[in-house]
Amino acid sequence: MDLNYSENDLTFQAEVRSFLAGKLPEKIAAVVRAGHGLTKDMMGEWHLILNKKGWLATSWPKKFGGPGWTPVQKYIFEEECCSAYAPRVVPFGKNMLGPVLQKFGSKEQQVEYLPRILSGKDWWCQGYSEPGAGSDLASLKTRAERNGNDYIFNGQKTWTTLGQHAN
Ligand SMILES: Cc1cc2nc3c(=O)[nH]c(=O)nc-3n(C[C@H](O)[C@H](O)[C@H](O)COP(=O)(O)OP(=O)(O)OC[C@H]3O[C@@H](n4cnc5c(N)ncnc54)[C@H](O)[C@@H]3O)c2cc1C
Repeated sequence: MDLNYSENDLTFQAEVRSFLAGKLPEKIAAVVRAGHGLTKDMMGEWHLILNKKGWLATSWPKKFGGPGWTPVQKYIFEEECCSAYAPRVVPFGKNMLGPVLQKFGSKEQQVEYLPRILSGKDWWCQGYSEPGAGSDLASLKTRAERNGNDYIFNGQKTWTTLGQHAN
């Protein structure tokens, strides 16, 4: 088995390197290099740069706006991003909600929400965990009750990572 990159992979690697050298803002790379937390604006800026190139949702199928990469290309992209101190993209919309909507969502939900994840219009967070229910989600206490056209939620959530930025 030949584990070396193919000619095409090496060309792709060079393309990613050149993209990162030209488009990754130094002020953002410097924060990652120092191990500090990024501001919301910085996370949003990098998100938009990747989306403009079509390289944001690297695991999404092409029909939903992914780049259609092979597993090796995805690996090369991750490796080059790490080497260049590019930040990890905020995962909630791209990695957590997006694939669920693609598999289980209605056509209407896919058309409404997937483009808004890519464009950065929507910032999702994940509200599963509660003070009394972490791993054991069957113990969740939060309830949604229908009230005419609305739902009224009552309950308490914890561990909502980056929830302060979510809309
Ligand atoms: C930094 C961070 C960010 C997070 N972000 C989010 C978020 O954005 N949204 C969100 O909803 N949640 C989030 N979580 C919650 C996380 O995903 C877990 O669900 C949660 O931390 C687990 O619950 P707990 O801490 O109450 O531990 P517990 O569920 O109380 O577990 C305590 C211990 O018991 C073990 N254990 C639990 N159940 C079993 C079992 N059935 N059998 C054997 N062992 C068991 C566990 O492995 C653990 O060692 C985050 C957690 C952390 C630490």
